[in-house]
Amino acid sequence: MILGGGFGGLAAANELRQNLSSEVKITVIDKKDYFMMDLVKLWILNGTREFEYSKKPLQTITKKGIDFINEEIIKINPQNKTVTTPSKELPYDYLIIALGVELAPEQIPGLSNNGLVLYELKDVPKIRDAIKRIKSGKIAMAIMGLPYKCPPAPYEAALLIRSMLKDTGASDSVKIDFYSPTPITLPAGGPQVSEELLQLLKSKNIEFHGSHKTISIGPKTLKFEESVAGFDLLIAVPPHKAPSVVVEAGFAEKGKFIAVDRTCKTNFENVYAIGDVNQIMVTDKIAVPKAGIFAEGEGVTVARNIISKIKSEQEKEIFDGKGGCFVEVGKKVAGYLQVDMFANPNPITLLQQPSEEHFADKEKFEKDRLAKWL
Ligand SMILES: Cc1cc2nc3c(=O)[nH]c(=O)nc-3n(C[C@H](O)[C@H](O)[C@H](O)COP(=O)(O)OP(=O)(O)OC[C@H]3O[C@@H](n4cnc5c(N)ncnc54)[C@H](O)[C@@H]3O)c2cc1C
Repeated sequence: MILGGGFGGLAAANELRQNLSSEVKITVIDKKDYFMMDLVKLWILNGTREFEYSKKPLQTITKKGIDFINEEIIKINPQNKTVTTPSKELPYDYLIIALGVELAPEQIPGLSNNGLVLYELKDVPKIRDAIKRIKSGKIAMAIMGLPYKCPPAPYEAALLIRSMLKDTGASDSVKIDFYSPTPITLPAGGPQVSEELLQLLKSKNIEFHGSHKTISIGPKTLKFEESVAGFDLLIAVPPHKAPSVVVEAGFAEKGKFIAVDRTCKTNFENVYAIGDVNQIMVTDKIAVPKAGIFAEGEGVTVARNIISKIKSEQEKEIFDGKGGCFVEVGKKVAGYLQVDMFANPNPITLLQQPSEEHFADKEKFEKDRLAKWL
């Protein structure tokens, strides 16, 4: 049974289905009835995509022999090995928790009234409209909690917004200030990649303000721990939290994610946690970033070990921590951040320069997975 038909859940379901006989029942449960990659939100933002044409029905997986239940999971009981939805209590033999994160804008007082949330699908068209309307003034972008999904994505959004402002003719009179609680742009990417990203932002006239922890928001005012700043438009990445159903079941403490190692095994037998809902530490300070590519890698790792167990073979897969994220800069050009989280002795990250080829790779990234999974 797979909880969540997102990046990790779909990758795991497909790997399992391709390698197990039809005697083994595979079920995906999701409260949404569609899948759309989060990265598409940035294309909705810059107007190159529409939601209606980007979402794919999850029901499609039933054609591959995977059952789909479109309901909310309201309880997980690992002692009894059951999962509860409003209409059913379902038993499982193996459980993969792939429920992602919940956004928690309520943790920042004043945010909901005074700012828009970049990662919230319903806010994305509003951000787009506001950018099209703005003629002069200041756009503040702020990361308001750690960890957050896809560390380069907010910077990518800032670069795309600069490109949109160039198109509207307002670029010279609109300042973009970017605030982050971290001292450098991408701590998980290390100092060199952070500096390269900083230079890229500077080249597009986006000012980065590190070590700015947001405390609260007032009308046109951002309050940080040690200072305040004004804005005309606020675009926020709010704090993230583990879904409450996971915390209530005792898999994670409040305010934390499910701690697992590279096998993604939880403390309960045959229960695994993959993707954004988990936390895999790489060093005592750095965790595997929350990214689709890693959710996918973890999903495949767990699926292969479950396949081995079912076939009474040795489980030998561990998550390799390899992957990468695109950093789009506008006009169908993107950089690529290549990552090897478990390289010895330290994680390796490399920012490849923006090019049209990387943008084409980003489009292919989405297309290939949709074709494979749905
Ligand atoms: C703007 C943006 C751009 C990004 N760009 C990239 C990129 O270029 N590359 C990359 O690798 N990653 C990118 N990411 C990150 C990536 O989207 C996530 O890391 C990825 O989706 C995590 O996969 P997951 O399976 O853990 O969770 P998700 O894909 O979020 O799936 C979780 C699923 O669980 C379901 N669910 C949750 N709670 C319940 C419940 N109680 N009952 C039923 N269903 C439930 C949800 O509906 C959802 O479908 C980006 C993210 C954002 C926001």
